[in-house]
Amino acid sequence: MTQSLAPESYTRFLSDAAKERKPSPIRGLYPLEARPGVISLLAGKPNATTFPFTSIKLTARSPTDPSREIETEVNGKALAEGLQYGPTAGLPSFCEWVYELQEREHGRKKGEGWRVSIGAGSQDVIYKAVMAMVNPGDSVLVECPVYAGVLPMFQALHCDLIEVETDSHGIKSNSLRSILQNWPSTKQRPKVLYTVPYGCNPTGMTATLDRRQEVLALAREYDFIILEDDPYYYLYYGDAPRYPSYFTLELKQPEVGRVLRFDSLSKILSSGIRIGFASGPEPLLQAIDMHTAVANLQTSSLTQAITYSLLDAWGYSGFKAHTETVSRFYREKRDVFEGALRRHLEGLAEWSTPEAGMFFWFKLLLGGDEGDSESIIRTKAYERGVLALPGTVFLPRGGKTAYVRAAFSLLAEDEVEEAIKRLRQTILEARQS
Ligand code: PMP
Repeated sequence: MTQSLAPESYTRFLSDAAKERKPSPIRGLYPLEARPGVISLLAGKPNATTFPFTSIKLTARSPTDPSREIETEVNGKALAEGLQYGPTAGLPSFCEWVYELQEREHGRKKGEGWRVSIGAGSQDVIYKAVMAMVNPGDSVLVECPVYAGVLPMFQALHCDLIEVETDSHGIKSNSLRSILQNWPSTKQRPKVLYTVPYGCNPTGMTATLDRRQEVLALAREYDFIILEDDPYYYLYYGDAPRYPSYFTLELKQPEVGRVLRFDSLSKILSSGIRIGFASGPEPLLQAIDMHTAVANLQTSSLTQAITYSLLDAWGYSGFKAHTETVSRFYREKRDVFEGALRRHLEGLAEWSTPEAGMFFWFKLLLGGDEGDSESIIRTKAYERGVLALPGTVFLPRGGKTAYVRAAFSLLAEDEVEEAIKRLRQTILEARQS
């Protein structure tokens, strides 16, 4: 039977800063205002009658028929909530939508030892989670290559970044096991593992079911929390049915509560709207919220209200229809990009076909030894008018790599063709020199 990790167990996973953080003396009392009959002199909220907004009208594409527009409006109580300070973890109406989503997508029911917190994008909640869990100098497990956006978080804390090998099937669980088995007895064990399981940034890889299960089993055996950063979950376009998330899979483990999941609406609704959310064990979410209460009080109520208004008008089936359209869009982009790779870089580069996300990760075959893409991509390719990212950017501990990350999300077909031809010329020139 699945048991939840006891709340006290999380003390080990909290950073000293999180343990020492005092709750906001005001925000914690907000719920008391709701008791009927209470006259509240508590919060320094501005009087909403002075706010000039009277309604916010939205027009959006219908998720089932893109030629049609649907209109919705944020007004009345929803507008009042959107314009005012609100709960630290997020606007209640929007949080309810997220609970429903997580139940439908990941089989996680509200009230079963986990909760959500809304952030200004997933980056916001990832950063706060890292600060809530990692102490200066801690060892942290990070997949390698890794999303470059988390490296500065760990570097600023002078963490010992333990690179966990990956391939096109995700984290190599055997390598992870070997790291943990050979962990020096005098060194503090890692408390977290960071991974992007769908359409990884930068490698495009999607972790297979076996690998996910093995990593989860190791989390239990070696007592760490998996930071499941999954902004490309809805951008899965593989042929096979999708794999369950870590957040789902842990329900089948003897113990639940080892996954802190991050979702993002950036890749499916808008990146500028800045909405992401963390879902996971109550004590970790509480630590994230305590950081928010100090850092920015809360994520914008208004963006949450606007987002909710659209999602509510669409309904869950509309949301699904929309995400399917988005993933089909990226699948076509992937196919166009791969077509150009085949035409122009066969024998000059190696790659695996991504099944999710928006990145190709390819290895330049420069002849001779392993090679290094750094100067070729940063200088030579740029001189020829093509800009990509050398793989070094994504190596937690630095070093050389012949890999390159190319984003295929934005380009039109003719631009892809031209970019890959330019890369071909660059590689041919490098092979000659
Ligand atoms: N994680 C990964 C792996 C990403 O690629 C990104 C976006 N580049 C983020 C987190 C942050 O996304 P956002 O804050 O827009 O939700």
